[in-house]
Amino acid sequence: MNYSLIIFDWDGTLMDSVGRIVSSMQYTARVVGLNVPSESAVRDIIGISLLPAIDRLFGRLNEVQMAQFMQVYRQQYVYDDATPTGLFDGAHELLSDLRSRGFRLAVATGKARHGLERVWDETNSRHYFDYSRCADESESKPSPKMLLELTEQAGVGVQQALMIGDSIHDMQMAQRAQMAAIGVSFGAHDSAQLKAAGAHAIISQLSELSSYVADDSSAVALKELL
Ligand SMILES: [Mg+2]
Repeated sequence: MNYSLIIFDWDGTLMDSVGRIVSSMQYTARVVGLNVPSESAVRDIIGISLLPAIDRLFGRLNEVQMAQFMQVYRQQYVYDDATPTGLFDGAHELLSDLRSRGFRLAVATGKARHGLERVWDETNSRHYFDYSRCADESESKPSPKMLLELTEQAGVGVQQALMIGDSIHDMQMAQRAQMAAIGVSFGAHDSAQLKAAGAHAIISQLSELSSYVADDSSAVALKELL
């Protein structure tokens, strides 16, 4: 398969942010006076947009609770929570290698635009990406809309694009767009969950992706899975 566009999820795929999301979400629930969700409950909503994620974890909040939730969560996640985040090992090398080999790269994320811009600045990684779609510009995963907008913008068919993500929402989004998807096993969901959600292959570290799209036999193996 001759891919020309590789689309990455952000949190849990390129950035090691799952721990901070879980602890910030639990802290915010405590402060706002909601039931504190378990770690696995929070992991399950990572990847979808914040508003539907809050709905799923806590039920419908009233306007005052929602405003307080958003304010506390943002303050906690961005400024106060000390759980370290950064790009996963090998991320810079992978992105730079893929670009030098002529692939175009994109991000499809449940983050809001201001959140993606902030972490691009913090990790000096904006320059790798040709295109991006954020939660506040499109529909929440698993709607295929972000992927369809990205392929349209890049002028490629969905068959020429490959989605990489760590959550079942990424895999379901790709499946609904009829796009091939590779799951990473080090983020929100494990290999079995990702496969059940439609992953065509699983990698356990980012560097494996490089050979996946380079090696002809792997490319053929992936094609046969589709
Ligand atoms: Mg993710």
